[in-house]
Amino acid sequence: MNKPADIKHHTVPLWIGGKPVVPAGRMGDVYNPASGQVAKKVPLADAKIVDAAVKAAAAAYPAWRDTPPLRRARVMQKFLQLLQDNQQELARLVSEEHGKTLPDASGSVQRGIEVVEFACGIPHLLKGEFSENVGTAVDTHTLRQPVGVCAGITPFNFPVMVPLWMFPVAIACGNAFVLKPSEKVPSASVRMAELFKEAGLPDGVFNVVHGDKEAVDAILAHPGIAAVSFVGSTPIAKYIYETCARNGKRVQALGGAKNHAVVLPDADLEFAADALTGAAYGSAGERCMAISAVVAVGAAADPLVKLLETRAKAIKIGPGDAPGMDMGPLVTAEHRDKVAGFIEKGISEGAKLVVDGRNPPRKEGFFLGTTLFDRVTPQMEVYKNEIFGPVLIVLRADSLEQAIALVNSNPYANGTAIFTESGGAARRFENEIQVGMVGINVPIPVPVAYFSFGGWKNSLFGDLHVHGVEGVKFYTRTKVVTKRWPHQDTPAPGFHMPTLG
Ligand code: NAD
Repeated sequence: MNKPADIKHHTVPLWIGGKPVVPAGRMGDVYNPASGQVAKKVPLADAKIVDAAVKAAAAAYPAWRDTPPLRRARVMQKFLQLLQDNQQELARLVSEEHGKTLPDASGSVQRGIEVVEFACGIPHLLKGEFSENVGTAVDTHTLRQPVGVCAGITPFNFPVMVPLWMFPVAIACGNAFVLKPSEKVPSASVRMAELFKEAGLPDGVFNVVHGDKEAVDAILAHPGIAAVSFVGSTPIAKYIYETCARNGKRVQALGGAKNHAVVLPDADLEFAADALTGAAYGSAGERCMAISAVVAVGAAADPLVKLLETRAKAIKIGPGDAPGMDMGPLVTAEHRDKVAGFIEKGISEGAKLVVDGRNPPRKEGFFLGTTLFDRVTPQMEVYKNEIFGPVLIVLRADSLEQAIALVNSNPYANGTAIFTESGGAARRFENEIQVGMVGINVPIPVPVAYFSFGGWKNSLFGDLHVHGVEGVKFYTRTKVVTKRWPHQDTPAPGFHMPTLG
């Protein structure tokens, strides 16, 4: 093994048992998407290394599980302070490896930190229920107990926020955790592990392994892992869900998205166009809650497309750390080419190209400009697929009813929004739409940390959403205790089912 100090700036270490570790073996490239150059190397873990991380977690688990929730909460409070103190450094790591602008990266770090704030309230969140006299002198109460060693597998687009959706809640509940972040953006997870240790977290409670499919498969197969949280694309989410179910693991697997915004003719169109422009092109469209499809109803369509065109053309594109930029590059050359391929596809399918992003202002790095398509139909590939880039498509509908039917027939169901001045239309939309997160004049309705985040249909496989109360439920098991005390003048238990009566 190399000494981490020697290679820190070149190789991003794993974090196992409270220490940085650089194993021998396969390595991956970490790019600076703004320059297009390889900036760092990352070890890609195999099953043996995953096993070492699980063993470290399993060894730390019993003592952490038995640590009173209030003490665990105090560690979370120190971690919270350290994350706040280091927010800009974390944002810089996100921006360097993902490409998004620094203010956007900082905002995403902030949203993740809020989950740690939520997890500081864990003593209250773990309280059970109690019923006195479920039978004569018999009482019942529930306990919420941790499940053991949990794993998290996360995508490239939120290197701090998405891991923070998972591990603070799991660890506050008394579990130990192995995180496998995206190998494209590995650094921020290790920095968070260092900060967590500094906050007083015992070694082994939180571990980070880097890697690709080989590491993920080792996690899914490992008998020592009780629960898996996944966030990423739909095909992999489905694979994770099915494999975990087969292997007897608790699982929540959040997938991809195609988020629609329905704009009614009575909406404030300037307001809607501003909101949609940020929601479509912010973070170069690489957000699972990005608006990628606008459904313009009736007379809203023509003026809205004009407003979107003006705004899309005005977006400032450049490196994430350059001041005043609205949008950075895409994460890799491969992903940029895939998105550009969808622009070609949209043209060949007959969609109307209003803004063409194929000639970005910067030639080096993985940049694309903004693209706007009008008159897209549900049969086109640019509608059916998650593009995950700075491409906004506009479909047209004749009525609210038709717009709702269109959204509901899409297999993705992460987020959606409606723009209208009508309370009645908004209420109908909220009631009838088959999507997990809904915005009313709010383009990206990502729930705050004390609510839970999750889509429906192909956007989430599993029953429980992440963070908030559903996160606590995912990372704990309920035990129901029924008790009586003898010598209290009550009959001894007999052979029949006890009933009140
Ligand atoms: P991805 O599915 O390619 O990768 C996600 C994770 O799975 C990574 O850690 C990766 O190493 C691993 N992985 C990749 N291929 C694998 C394979 N064949 N077998 C096993 N593991 C594999 O996703 P991504 O490109 O990193 O992220 C973008 C996707 O994530 C988009 O589809 C986006 O919508 C989705 N996403 C969803 C949410 C949500 O909350 N629903 C949030 C963020 C991102």
